[in-house]
Amino acid sequence: MSASLDLSIVIPLLNEEESLRPLFQKIQDAVGDLGLSYEAIFIDDGSTDQSMAVLRELREKSDAVKIIRFRRNFGKAAAYSAAFSRVRGKYVITMDADLQDDPAEIANLIAKLEEGYDLVSGWKKKRHDPLGKTVPSKFFNWVTGRVSGIDIHDFNCGLKGYRREVTQDVKIYGELHRYIPVLAGLEGYTVSEIPVQHHARQFGVTKYGWSRLFKGFLDLLTVMYLGRYMGRPLHLFGVLGVGLTGAGMAINAYIASLWLRTGSIQHRYPLLSLGTLLTVLGFQVICTGLIGDMVARASNPEEKYNIQEILE
Ligand code: UDP
Ligand code: MG
Repeated sequence: MSASLDLSIVIPLLNEEESLRPLFQKIQDAVGDLGLSYEAIFIDDGSTDQSMAVLRELREKSDAVKIIRFRRNFGKAAAYSAAFSRVRGKYVITMDADLQDDPAEIANLIAKLEEGYDLVSGWKKKRHDPLGKTVPSKFFNWVTGRVSGIDIHDFNCGLKGYRREVTQDVKIYGELHRYIPVLAGLEGYTVSEIPVQHHARQFGVTKYGWSRLFKGFLDLLTVMYLGRYMGRPLHLFGVLGVGLTGAGMAINAYIASLWLRTGSIQHRYPLLSLGTLLTVLGFQVICTGLIGDMVARASNPEEKYNIQEILE
């Protein structure tokens, strides 16, 4: 399906009844000024308040409104996935429903996309959230930037702009929505950022607590592992395993030489245990890698690359 609209705006929401009317008004104003054809896809991620009723009311008033309603709460990543497989715009904008993201930024995101970037992330440079949120988030962003090599300040900003291809390509599930810039970068898309306005939450409560920091780092591990080693687990496990076994064998060679030279191992029993342990452990890690390779081969026989263009 080719793009038939200029813009798709994707808005996941969970219990945001008070924010939806003013939010859509702001979107209409912002996009109206730009003169673009657009759709606004709202994903009701299992709300238990009046959000769904408000969305139906908005849909009565405007053809641009589309609604995807989840049967229960599946999370933001699932909400993005469901919307991304249906977007019709040349550009896709995601934003939160709680009025913390400003629809007036849509124009700036598009301007940056027009410069040629595939993904433009918002950067909440001046953030209006409690310290318990901003401090862990700074740390999280710093580590993610270091580990992934993607040089942006704010990975988890709800406000982002994409070329439609990007949204078709990144596979997100669980809580991987935080890593869309990393996943896109690993596929070879160009990623940039612009500073955006951020507002304090006016209505309702945040849907995320402290646990997100911990889960976030586990997810980073998954993303980096799948991104770099999906098709070749042995490259990771093999290096690790050979290193461990090598160290173990070196230790045991030293013990053997002691024994040959002096007739006893000079009470180096702890060292002997360590050498033996490392040797066995290393072998097991190598075997894990081999099994990983077999699984990788069996489950992805098809292409593991991403073509930007074909000229025939
Ligand atoms: N959200 C969602 N499903 C969830 C959790 C959150 O669709 O399971 C939506 C929420 O309604 C909001 C956006 O995701 O539109 C960001 O959530 P929130 O504002 O609670 O996060 P914060 O801004 O506090 O990081
Ligand atoms: Mg919010």
